Amino acid sequence: MATLEIENIFSDILERSKILDPANARKWFDKLTVLHFDGGSLGIGCPDEATVRFLQDNCKNSFTRAAQQITGHLVSIDFQVNSQQRPASSGQRSESGLKIHPDYTFDNFVVGPSNRLAHASCVAVSQSLGSTYNPLFLYGNSGLGKTHLLHAVCCGALSRSNGIVIQLLTCEEFINKFIRAIEQGNLAGFQNQFRSVDALVIDDIQFLRERERSQEEFFHTFNTLYNNGKQIILSADSAPAEIPSLEARLISRFNWGLVARIDPPSFETRVAIVQKKAHIRGLDITDEIAGYIANKVQANIRELEGALTNIYALAVISNEQVSLELAQRALHGHVQSVSKQINISDIIEVVTKHFDVRLTDLQSKRRSQSITEPRQICMYLARNLTKHSLEEIGGHLGGRDHTTVMHACSKIEQAKTSDPKMQALLNELTKQVAQSCDG
Ligand code: ADP
Ligand code: MG
Repeated sequence: MATLEIENIFSDILERSKILDPANARKWFDKLTVLHFDGGSLGIGCPDEATVRFLQDNCKNSFTRAAQQITGHLVSIDFQVNSQQRPASSGQRSESGLKIHPDYTFDNFVVGPSNRLAHASCVAVSQSLGSTYNPLFLYGNSGLGKTHLLHAVCCGALSRSNGIVIQLLTCEEFINKFIRAIEQGNLAGFQNQFRSVDALVIDDIQFLRERERSQEEFFHTFNTLYNNGKQIILSADSAPAEIPSLEARLISRFNWGLVARIDPPSFETRVAIVQKKAHIRGLDITDEIAGYIANKVQANIRELEGALTNIYALAVISNEQVSLELAQRALHGHVQSVSKQINISDIIEVVTKHFDVRLTDLQSKRRSQSITEPRQICMYLARNLTKHSLEEIGGHLGGRDHTTVMHACSKIEQAKTSDPKMQALLNELTKQVAQSCDG
């Protein structure tokens, strides 16, 4: 294909992705370039590793859908760092160097009974770091606003005082930086980076489980910061004591300050959130439509946004006004979200049953095709249906490292693109996993 033709197709796909995923588009899609396209797979160049990870985790679906809509067939999407491009300097990062999502502010956060305590404590902490609630620990199910609030605290604190130093990162990033520091023999640099801040904000701290050395390091970081009156803010999917394999001394420290739970929002709060999100995107939406969406999607605010995106995309694609009837069409067949999350064990159960193999086979070192394929399918499904990290998925399947899991995922992804049977199989297994969680 000629370079110009590739550029044109990519630009169409990018435009379509923006329509399908407007919330992420404004912040993340601007600096993307096309690296290669051969009809079957599209390599997208990103300015840095963080962008690759974000897009991989959050936007792969919208790009896949966009590419399918534009080209008429399945295209596998691969995000990579574009080494020709200089790392993002402005725009993506705030002056402080923090990656703060521009929409995740207190102004954009709708407060209701389900999140009032979490919100109030975040506001208080952002107004005086280190002296109100320390540590501040937020927890709740996925998609209920924890990350949003963490970003809002950082944004609020930075706008109040100049020159304060905040580290905001996910637990996975913390662990990866720690591992890299050890590999490079630069533990002192790592420690200095995290122990010298005014606030350390770590998202999804539950990923410290089963990470003994990282827990140990985090324990000392915590103590240093705490003893110096510096702020620590953490989020997790469950209460401190309910995070499996977390050291008791960490659990007790997490309970020293304020632990605030976020519950699923009430109907009124959901309506207000839909309206707020529509407003942020410059859309007009009637109370009736907002109520319809809020009724349809109950357990997870991320899905509430997804529903809005579907409606908006349908309106753009079919060139119609947003009406209740259009909303109904867009959400037709939308399965009301299951509040129970999918676990790796749900996936393993379905896969082992389907292939008639045992979990111990999957965990073993055996490399025959009859074992390798189900094992790789487990990894692929776990990557796509759960929020577990590559390391964790590898851990469940016989202690394999993250590169093995990554390899498995791309292999199955490729097979899915080239082999309709594989695609049908994956669809079927996904359906079974979802059903097993429903019941
Ligand atoms: P979590 O980190 O708990 O999984 P997020 O913070 O990523 O959830 O929230 C998912 C989406 O829902 C984000 O787009 C966020 O802006 C939105 N959201 C969550 N709670 C609220 C709220 N109370 N008001 C407005 N938007 C919200
Ligand atoms: Mg989050």
